[in-house]
Amino acid sequence: MADQVKCLYCGANVPADSSHCPGCGAVSHFQRKGYRAGARRRFLVWLLLLTIFSIFMAFWLPR
Ligand SMILES: [Zn+2]
Repeated sequence: MADQVKCLYCGANVPADSSHCPGCGAVSHFQRKGYRAGARRRFLVWLLLLTIFSIFMAFWLPR
């Protein structure tokens, strides 16, 4: 059974894997699960790089 989400604009039930609401035609905000996961992973990588860079600069720069 496919997951259903409510359209943000008209409240109609939309299949989670549908790209557009069948009721009002608005773009669904729930379909890009892979994109969200990828964005979060990219954010964590950036956070890790920033942390390493900050530690490196803290030790490298003269105090
Ligand atoms: Zn809608």
